[in-house]
Amino acid sequence: MWDEALINALVVFKKNLEAKPNVGGVIDTVSQIYDGADRLFDELTAKDETVSEGVEKLACEQGCNHCCYRQVAVSAAEALAIGTFLRLSIPEEGVDMVAQAISGLAAEVIGKSPSERAWMKFPCPLLTDGDCAVYSIRPLQCRSTCSTNASLCALGLEEGEDPDIEALTAQVDLYKSTLAVLMKVETELGFETGPLDLIPALSIVLSDDTAAPRWLQGEDVFGPARIITTLH
Ligand code: SF4
Ligand code: SF4
Repeated sequence: MWDEALINALVVFKKNLEAKPNVGGVIDTVSQIYDGADRLFDELTAKDETVSEGVEKLACEQGCNHCCYRQVAVSAAEALAIGTFLRLSIPEEGVDMVAQAISGLAAEVIGKSPSERAWMKFPCPLLTDGDCAVYSIRPLQCRSTCSTNASLCALGLEEGEDPDIEALTAQVDLYKSTLAVLMKVETELGFETGPLDLIPALSIVLSDDTAAPRWLQGEDVFGPARIITTLH
């Protein structure tokens, strides 16, 4: 399923971690992996729509957000990259305020299972005026939540359940397997890994500017954010 660009991006990510990178290096390599996976996603989707007459079209688009009210599982490198990206995109004087707000939300969701989270209908704190504030660097799990029927996603949100959406399975598998490889690389190289709950993981990165460098030195900084239950 994977193409050369995505495999290369994962190899670069691994080499970068082996070389004990700085935070910028992690952001760059995670972004390259997202780009590689997205390119492949587009190819797979275009192929589906060309080859199969009458195949259902992808309903996802930026601004559609019924799927942004559930637990999002991320790898440690993703948490670090997204948290740092967010930190850099907020004016310096606003970082503490955002960090406190996300910490408050983290306290409410820590330890909740994916189904409890679905019932809570708790909006992702990165949802700003209906749009994802980190769209270009949103997690692999968010990218994997693709559907051919936005109404079913809306219904799932309304009923507080994981929606039984009509998804493009090859595309979902692409992102899920990419996330699994990311976490495997982190584990093999001795870094703490996920799956981490995005909200508490972001809270850790935003509240403590030593969290990212300490993770890069092999410290277990994301423990409170670790998801105990299985990935959904
Ligand atoms: S998964 Fe559903 S809610 Fe999410 S962007 Fe796609 S269509 Fe919209
Ligand atoms: S990170 Fe963005 S895409 Fe993912 S749940 Fe949050 S707002 Fe939605």
